[in-house]
Amino acid sequence: MVPVAELDRILSDLAVPIRVRQADLDSALGEVLAQAVEADRDIPPFDRVCMDGYALRWDEWTAGRREFAVSGSSPAGAERHPGPLPGSCVEVMTGAPCPSGCDLVVRLEDALPRDHGVFLDPSKVVRGQNLAWRGSDARAGKVLLEEGCRLGPAEIGILASVGAQAVPVRCRPEIRVVCTGDELVDVDKAPLAHQIRRSNDRFLTSALRARGQGAVPSTHLPDDPELLEAGLGVLLGQADVLLVAGGVSASRRDFVPGVLEGLGCRCLVHGVAQKPGKPLWVGTGPKGQIVFALPGNPVAVAACFARYVLGVLRRPEPLVRTARLEAPTAGLPSMTRFVAAHLRDDGAGGVVALESRGNGSGDFLHLTGAEGFLEIPPGKVLQARSVARFWPW
Ligand code: AMP
Ligand code: MG
Repeated sequence: MVPVAELDRILSDLAVPIRVRQADLDSALGEVLAQAVEADRDIPPFDRVCMDGYALRWDEWTAGRREFAVSGSSPAGAERHPGPLPGSCVEVMTGAPCPSGCDLVVRLEDALPRDHGVFLDPSKVVRGQNLAWRGSDARAGKVLLEEGCRLGPAEIGILASVGAQAVPVRCRPEIRVVCTGDELVDVDKAPLAHQIRRSNDRFLTSALRARGQGAVPSTHLPDDPELLEAGLGVLLGQADVLLVAGGVSASRRDFVPGVLEGLGCRCLVHGVAQKPGKPLWVGTGPKGQIVFALPGNPVAVAACFARYVLGVLRRPEPLVRTARLEAPTAGLPSMTRFVAAHLRDDGAGGVVALESRGNGSGDFLHLTGAEGFLEIPPGKVLQARSVARFWPW
């Protein structure tokens, strides 16, 4: 049995393969960028007017002129105006190119109409005011989005601004979910008295979907070594990451580790000093696939998924958070303890974790309302307000 930290170290050496595809800009939301994106031209691409008003020459202003004729108008979308005649200014609108020779804009609000022009009376004047100079946000060629960043609305807007109609994004890894157990029936079946409806597959596939993984196929296999071997063999051929639930504990009918090893998988860990989830098995497949065989108790499945599985899916955003405990929480003498909890804003700039209480690792009912697990290190009693790590699913 290894400590949690040792499993972390082992997992840090594993990597899901990265494959790349082109995504239409309109379907790229939530994807992970596979290649850095640069500015295709200066941003702004021309000296841009930032306020509706009047553009004029700094030297005329410093020479003391305050009354100007208005020689022309420059709206957004018009070509650069050739510039005002001496003694005059140009009416400009936000988004227009700054007229040639002009180097400041006085706001409309600071202008008074005169017979043949305007009297400009701003409280403060500096050269370049109300203008954004060409390239002042970024020069052409500057990296605007790094490889590996998650594409949210702001990033999609930036991609549009540089003309990226299609973007290279990382393909989602191929994931397969398998539930094992002779006692399990599907949601549409009436269970006999000794059977239960299986739920771990739905937990896993919906948690993956919530993390942007799309539809993940899932399979049910019985506690039968030959059928397990046939079924897991096929799935190993399809998966980058294989998630098996159930059949990894110590009984004579927990066949999964033996079957996986018979299929050429290498066991990296079988048994972790943690509760729930002690019998967790982690290994690699013959082609480098990452295989998690999770103990079947639903709370163990959720804890192992949040604590370990999400971390290997090459997600750009850090998943672990920290929170202050609402109430004192005792750890176990020599095992890490995972406690289902949800987080709440404490109204004072912090996050507080509220424990969900239940009847152990078989009681999945107490997961409702929770959104992840607190990690309580071995041999510790954490007092109220102390800080603990929190792993969301
Ligand atoms: P196992 O790890 O196969 O020994 O299963 C541990 C416990 O979890 C048993 O009580 C199983 O019936 C239960 N279990 C296993 N798989 C599922 C599942 N998919 N949904 C709900 N309970 C399950
Ligand atoms: Mg079982």
